Amino acid sequence: MSQVLLEVGALVLSADAVIPEPGYILWQDGVILAVGRGVYPGPRDQVEVISRPRAVAIPGLVNTHGHAAMTLLRGIGDDLPLQAWLTERIYPTEAKLTGEAVYWGTLLACWEMIQSGTTCFTDMYFFMHDAARAVEESGLRAVLSWGMVGFDEQNRTQGIRNSRSFHAQWHRAAQGRIQVTLGPHAPYTCPPDYLAEVAELSAELGVPIQIHLSETKREVDECIAEHGCTPIRLAERCGLLNRPVLAAHCVHLTEEDIALLHERDVRVAHNPQSNLKLASGVAPVVELLRAGVTVGIGTDGAASNNNLDLFEELRLAATLHKGVRQDATAVTAGEAFTMATSAGARCVFLPDGHGTLNPGAAADIVLLSLDSVHFLPTYDLLSNVVYAAGAGDVTDVFVAGQPLLRQGEPVTLDVERIRHEVRRLEAILGPQA
Ligand SMILES: [Zn+2]
Repeated sequence: MSQVLLEVGALVLSADAVIPEPGYILWQDGVILAVGRGVYPGPRDQVEVISRPRAVAIPGLVNTHGHAAMTLLRGIGDDLPLQAWLTERIYPTEAKLTGEAVYWGTLLACWEMIQSGTTCFTDMYFFMHDAARAVEESGLRAVLSWGMVGFDEQNRTQGIRNSRSFHAQWHRAAQGRIQVTLGPHAPYTCPPDYLAEVAELSAELGVPIQIHLSETKREVDECIAEHGCTPIRLAERCGLLNRPVLAAHCVHLTEEDIALLHERDVRVAHNPQSNLKLASGVAPVVELLRAGVTVGIGTDGAASNNNLDLFEELRLAATLHKGVRQDATAVTAGEAFTMATSAGARCVFLPDGHGTLNPGAAADIVLLSLDSVHFLPTYDLLSNVVYAAGAGDVTDVFVAGQPLLRQGEPVTLDVERIRHEVRRLEAILGPQA
């Protein structure tokens, strides 16, 4: 494939490398070959040129935790205690979902994520063949897992079977944009011997694991009462932490848990908005970062957020811990930006360098309009991106060098069709249906 040259008004290559003046990115076959200030010095005759002089280029954002098709459950039950929310609203509606509904719900999520500057996301849900089809069509990068629960022998066996067939069909599919991982839901839905079985399957298939750990105080208290240890320690005892693990939430942790997460290089998905909305608490992100744990940012499902806008999570991750600790230095703009980009990429086990705009990284690039009010004035470009900019400033999105959003318009998705299908499903899924 030919080389593509993107000319922009400014670049944020990573939190530590900001170029607040015109520059360029050159890529080929989805990989960045060169970046620089000023005008590209090489020959231009064989190169496709995309000119966006009024845009700043940043690495695409990485959403490290979510349940994409839960976009269909957006707003179906709010302001309820967790147990009532789950049993009265979420579970009954999810029971009505079909593979076809998950396909359209995942496309809706892809549309929302593309428009808000996300280039890679994680998903743990069901009917995952349909979800993967949606990802393939959208052009996004994704790390997908079929959610597994172990209440009885039948769903244990089914979970293993689903994960095996999903892995066989979709791992490294869509030109390598899809990675398959295993998704045991949580220690309170998967008994210890089942978690051990999943750890063995993860070693056999050579894929990482994603799981919810220590989301609520109740979960931790019940785990201690039943198993005599915290969910983090239980995961370790089951052999899970011998494998690469991405743990979502980690809100209620002991010092020993944090040390163990660091020792086993467990990656943590911080979901500030979901944890606030479901009244779960605030994760000890400062302690995790100080301990050297890799922390990324996630939206969680749209039913507990209620959107998939990672710019909101980015700003919340940068401000929430300041307020809680009464310390304005708690999480800096640079630390939050790293969580949303390169640390996020590490959380989802993408190759080193991913989540930056450095040569060798995937050409997953987001452009924000420098003409937006959020970039006036611009004393510190990274500050504008983290504390002022938002999804509405996103103009262009590239994944593996392919355009998914061009000057505000989705390229890969038929959004009128998605709108129509979701309206149809709404009538079937809603509480009055
Ligand atoms: Zn979740």
